[in-house]
Amino acid sequence: MIKDNVRKILSELPDGVKIVAAAKTRTAEEVLEAIEAGIKIIGENYMQDALSVYPKIGKKAEWHFIGHLQKNKVKKAVEIFDMIETVDSIGLAEEINKRCNNINKIMPVLVEINSGMEEQKFGVLPEDAVEFVKKISQFENIKVMGLMTMGPRVGNPEDSRIYFSETKKVFDMLTGLNLKNVEMRYLSMGMTNSYKIAIEVGANMVRIGTLIFGERK
Ligand SMILES: *Cc1c(COP(=O)(O)O)cnc(C)c1O
Repeated sequence: MIKDNVRKILSELPDGVKIVAAAKTRTAEEVLEAIEAGIKIIGENYMQDALSVYPKIGKKAEWHFIGHLQKNKVKKAVEIFDMIETVDSIGLAEEINKRCNNINKIMPVLVEINSGMEEQKFGVLPEDAVEFVKKISQFENIKVMGLMTMGPRVGNPEDSRIYFSETKKVFDMLTGLNLKNVEMRYLSMGMTNSYKIAIEVGANMVRIGTLIFGERK
């Protein structure tokens, strides 16, 4: 089941687009099945989930943090994760930098954009993104590698398009600035319902859970 799902998605995916299997609530066995079918990157939202699944899988896949990261979880997170997709405050960036410095690691990060400009949502506002990236690119143990966005919850996936486009605009602007210690390589947008639209708009990293593993209980 999981294997068939992964193979189908991979066979239809355009070249150059990476899939992050969003694994929240899934068991290590389910995640391993996805990896055996060709998944290379696992996304986790919570440290608790990650810590229960990671020991059984280890370096069979790359690990991306895709949830809201609390500062008191950063010490553990930087040990496990290969990328943090959800950097959304200077304070968080500072903490990642400090903890990575302690273990001699340079952490690739994406900046989370609050593309719907929603009050209750995490992420940097599109208009603040350039200044934000300039600031955190000063941290020596962080490497900014692109942007991530969720976009507002919408009924019709087609309604996500404007939020993805907004994020792509910011991505292109940052790419054009050629900032030191910044490499705008990844644009992570789109989930089960919206990843095809995200790819049309320019995403080269999509985060898919339900379509791989089935509905969450
Ligand atoms: C759960 C989740 C996804 C995947 O959602 P699906 O609709 O199950 O594909 C993608 N990104 C983030 C940040 C998530 O938390």
